[in-house]
Amino acid sequence: MDAHAEIGRAIDSYRDKVVALSHEIHEHPELKFQEVFAAGILTKAATELGLEIDREVGGLKTAFRSEFGGKGPTVAILAEYDALPNGHSCGHNLIAGAALSAVAGLKSIASLPGRIVFLGTPAEEGGGGKIILIENGALRGVDAAMMAHPTDAEFCTMPALATQHLKLTFHGHGAHAALAPWDGSSALAAVIQTFQSVDAMRLHLRDGSRIHGIITDGGQAVNIIPEHAECLFLARAKSSKYAKEIGARVVRCAEAAAMATGTRVEQVVEGGYKNLINNLSIAHRYAAHTEALGVKCHEAPENTPTGSTDMGDVSHVMPAIHPSFAIARHGEGNCHEDAFVAHADSKRGYDAMIRVAKAMAMTAYDLLAEPDLLASAKKEFEARRES
Ligand SMILES: [Zn+2]
Repeated sequence: MDAHAEIGRAIDSYRDKVVALSHEIHEHPELKFQEVFAAGILTKAATELGLEIDREVGGLKTAFRSEFGGKGPTVAILAEYDALPNGHSCGHNLIAGAALSAVAGLKSIASLPGRIVFLGTPAEEGGGGKIILIENGALRGVDAAMMAHPTDAEFCTMPALATQHLKLTFHGHGAHAALAPWDGSSALAAVIQTFQSVDAMRLHLRDGSRIHGIITDGGQAVNIIPEHAECLFLARAKSSKYAKEIGARVVRCAEAAAMATGTRVEQVVEGGYKNLINNLSIAHRYAAHTEALGVKCHEAPENTPTGSTDMGDVSHVMPAIHPSFAIARHGEGNCHEDAFVAHADSKRGYDAMIRVAKAMAMTAYDLLAEPDLLASAKKEFEARRES
């Protein structure tokens, strides 16, 4: 039996186990950095596959890392498993299941022509777990990385945006809102003015950019001029450089609002994700395997609506792919919507998860077995990396 057929057979025979595991994670949604249950059952399953596990890697309680195989290059398969406040509305239970199944498929190969790293990456939803893992060396020595994400479309690439998180805190002066409003300066007025200035700026942003914000503190009581107020903004753009530039412009809006309202603004940049550089050499091989498994798969068209991911940061340090796989039809709900929670625990979702696991495992195998494929992925990475 050739390696691809063996991988497919092993993943099929692992199906019941991994569907049950993915369902369990779905039933126990955990927010960023709190994924104790998910990390626990994933590492238990990996141990049962015969893997040795390093737990709490990179100083993260819910991260884990395992490595196996023979001599040769190293490919990492990444699992995510955090949820959102409305449950597994981003389908990370399927990401975890696909990664674990891919690892089970590769583990079934008696003599792998290289090494596989199975990396459990917490807190994709706003915590930047992969950034922390990169900084702490969890991906050192790895030649290429991959994961796949459920959406409502089947693409071998995903054009994720770079982000910049901003927290703006305004300090005004409290006063009785009827008796002596002239003695106060409103921190809420500054927040509202900031949002208006940001809206006025939108026309002048490059296509594909996004700015969105929420007010997290709008005042202390309706009859007191708000002494302090706070808002969060997320600026997104096609490049990290431009996301930073937009973030700086939001800060200028806030400074102008503070000046106009007689308040003071404190601004904190809470980090951000890098844009995703999809390695086409690897993505096209993944697409070929997906098509051989019976599902059409091509590159995401330019300007496909998208979000952001800390896999973007991984793609800036090594060749990486982050294909998206369809678990819902267009219009039936997409990531982060309540409707997507059910898609992430559906037969359609689990069927796709198994198929994606096969395509990832076969692609990872090819990267180990075909020096030319890995060489072209690396050459492309060097040519496209941002300075
Ligand atoms: Zn997600």
